[in-house]
Amino acid sequence: MSNCLETDICILGGGIAGLWLNARLRSEGYSTLLVERGALGGGQSSKSQGIIHGGTKYALHGKLTTAAESIAAMPQRWRDCLQGKGDVDLRGVRLLSEHHYLWSPGNLISNLAGFFASKALRGRVDQVKGAELPPVFANPAFRGKVYRLAELVLDVPDVIRRLAELSGDSLAVASSAQVLRHDDGGVAGVRVGDTTIVAKRYVLTAGEGNEGLLQSWGVQQPAMQRRPLQMVLAKGRDLPALYAHCLGSSPKPRITVTTHPCADSQWCWYLGGELAEQGVSMTPDALIDRARAELKELLPWVRLDDCQWTTLPVNRAEPAQSGLVRPDTAYLQAVHNVLVSWPTKLALAPDLADQALAELRQQTVVPAIAQQAHGLPAPKIAAPVWDVAF
Ligand code: FAD
Repeated sequence: MSNCLETDICILGGGIAGLWLNARLRSEGYSTLLVERGALGGGQSSKSQGIIHGGTKYALHGKLTTAAESIAAMPQRWRDCLQGKGDVDLRGVRLLSEHHYLWSPGNLISNLAGFFASKALRGRVDQVKGAELPPVFANPAFRGKVYRLAELVLDVPDVIRRLAELSGDSLAVASSAQVLRHDDGGVAGVRVGDTTIVAKRYVLTAGEGNEGLLQSWGVQQPAMQRRPLQMVLAKGRDLPALYAHCLGSSPKPRITVTTHPCADSQWCWYLGGELAEQGVSMTPDALIDRARAELKELLPWVRLDDCQWTTLPVNRAEPAQSGLVRPDTAYLQAVHNVLVSWPTKLALAPDLADQALAELRQQTVVPAIAQQAHGLPAPKIAAPVWDVAF
């Protein structure tokens, strides 16, 4: 016999998007049930670099794009949350770096320097020198320029832990939740073992898994795109902290470095940017050789000889765009009684939750059903990638 569980909102997918939205909905009085297929954060979220972008990266070609404008408010929003003054209480979450930086290895294109000093970027990009330089650049051999961005870097596995804490008893794990189609084309329920979850609205926040959920529900639009990366990881005991994009000759960062604490007390440099985009077509060994050569050229005084190295292939999943370009904002679309969403950036999770709440209000879906004990098993939190990838 099938049990029926009723809830205001059923969320499918427990990455940053689903967990953030769950926290917001619960604080607004909605009953929720979030169903995760594997471990919380185990999709893209805990594999991300944790940079809460303010859009400066997108301004590297010398003008502010829609993405740069819409994302500009996010760093302050997250900072408010970290201080317990925002819409989700992230007090106690580990901040890895107060700032993300941008460095040019000595040959900054002059019009960019002018742009950084322009009114449009005032307060978002400041050149730092001398004692203000992050210690990794305080070496006589360093010849470049360093800019401090109004952006922060978070320990994402710790953010996920905190959001799971805020979720109380609303989380469930099910390796194969089945979407049941209603005769009117909408979703009639979600089957988890012998339990059927019936909600007023369903929200798809399953990242790359949204594609399969849409297919099993029999819906073609919105379509999804994948933009692959092959990240490089270097782990060592004495790696200095570095949170920075390195400027290259193209509008994209040549390399983006973040530094993460490992469970065995070592540190991991997690390398993205163009290196990881171009690395998708390379073998892991060839990509590691290239990463080592780039770092030797850029930061020759940093000892990397004793590091362990590996790579991580991972896809960014987003709404389909023509030409596989990056979507500019968080994406949410209502289809029947479902909201289909991709945040497109971890930093934009608050924006995605705003859009979902606005859509629910517009559809006059208000809190009505009391939170029920569901009796389903609870999901675990994914282990940080730097602890399992080597
Ligand atoms: P995910 O984190 O992928 O979560 C989806 C969840 O749904 C997963 O837990 C998965 O197990 C679950 N799921 C899948 N299918 C099902 C199903 N059928 N039923 C139930 N659950 C299901 N953004 C930034 O802002 N800053 C950064 O520094 C940054 N760095 C990045 C670095 C890398 C290498 C990558 C890949 C991305 C980065 N991003 C960054 C982008 C950011 O990580 C993503 O936009 C964001 O994490 C997506 O969150 P999500 O919750 O939509 O998806």
